[in-house]
Amino acid sequence: MRALSIEPCSLPPACEALRTEVRAFLAEAMADVPPERRNRNWSGADADFSRRLGERGWIGMTWPRRYGGHERSALERYVVLEELLAAGAPVGAHWVADRQSGPLLMRFAPETLAPRIVPRIARGEVFFCIGMSEPDAGSDLASIRTRAEKKGDGWVINGRKVWTSGAHRAHYMIALVRTGTDRSADRHQGLSQFLVDMRTPGLTVRPILNQLGDHDFNEVTFDDVWLPDECLIGAEGQGWQQVGAELAFERSGPERYLSCTQLLLEMLDQADAADPRQAEALGRVVAQYGTLRQMSLGVAGMLARGDNPALPAALVKDQGALVEQAMPDLAHALFGDRVHPGSTLDQAMRYATLSVPSFSLRGGTREILRGIIAKGLDLK
Ligand SMILES: Cc1cc2nc3c(=O)[nH]c(=O)nc-3n(C[C@H](O)[C@H](O)[C@H](O)COP(=O)(O)OP(=O)(O)OC[C@H]3O[C@@H](n4cnc5c(N)ncnc54)[C@H](O)[C@@H]3O)c2cc1C
Repeated sequence: MRALSIEPCSLPPACEALRTEVRAFLAEAMADVPPERRNRNWSGADADFSRRLGERGWIGMTWPRRYGGHERSALERYVVLEELLAAGAPVGAHWVADRQSGPLLMRFAPETLAPRIVPRIARGEVFFCIGMSEPDAGSDLASIRTRAEKKGDGWVINGRKVWTSGAHRAHYMIALVRTGTDRSADRHQGLSQFLVDMRTPGLTVRPILNQLGDHDFNEVTFDDVWLPDECLIGAEGQGWQQVGAELAFERSGPERYLSCTQLLLEMLDQADAADPRQAEALGRVVAQYGTLRQMSLGVAGMLARGDNPALPAALVKDQGALVEQAMPDLAHALFGDRVHPGSTLDQAMRYATLSVPSFSLRGGTREILRGIIAKGLDLK
């Protein structure tokens, strides 16, 4: 078995000055946002709020200036994300583009394309969705059947994507589709990524309501959708390798353990310090958050050094989901018989109860992450 150590990382003083700045901004910008809406955390979306963050330089923070970025460090970005998540800010509109689509385009998109689109992401004007999952391809992306056929100076795409978060408000999708045959011995070959303008004729977005009754994800169908050659991102057939790099970004952020902070804050608010049962249980949770934060900061430190954080990121996501999924039960055990119906604690408990089951599915299931961890530790 290989040992895994996550280097401790402490934030330089400049980060704390930035934290103060972000908190002051949020105190003003979020003053009228009720606790109920803060529960949604990064599932909540507000295009105006995203534009305001863009104006502040808090999207595309680490990107080069020629792409509209701000050339700040991964640790500075971490502090901004941490504060936004802790406040339950409605960051969902630009989250995917900032986290993974922008970096993907800068690395793989043609030079005709990336400088046109990436600066608009950094300004908080352009939003992205991820078109990976299909009805029969979730964990096993090699089963993807949506297909792009070469036609003249472009490609024609047919097929169907599901669970596409934010497709109804996104301007673009990064779609993983099959361009080669799937008869080769290696099923991961022959996949390619495309930039899809969501206004392209032949593309249909239909809502799928989640168990909260919210419209977050969608079904997206491609019916003879034509895209010019420049929309092929990276090399044809290299989609699997490119997606591997993208998923490392997707799994490495603090959102993987800070998705229901509003419930934690509500519980701390309502807790009776003289009640030893509450003090012990909440102290334990806060200690778990402290540990997760150290691990998550270590991942940010790896990103800052240019290391690949895929293995520790999988660990933080897995453990973060475990801690957050235990929160509603804890809240019911500690406050269930006393919670006032309709109170902010009641709302946070209801929201978390219905949303946490998805935390060990979205962005890679628990079993898939544990497979990555086992492989990384030479256990498999
Ligand atoms: C809130 C939410 C938002 C999402 N947003 C998006 C999005 O924006 N874009 C997108 O493309 N997708 C999105 N997804 C889809 C998500 O990525 C998939 O649900 C996930 O990858 C699992 O795929 P699946 O649902 O097909 O389940 P399956 O892959 O069919 O898995 C079913 C069960 O079998 C287990 N399993 C599967 N394979 C293995 C294995 N090899 N070993 C052990 N166990 C295994 C899984 O862990 C799971 O428990 C979202 C999902 C959720 C819940």
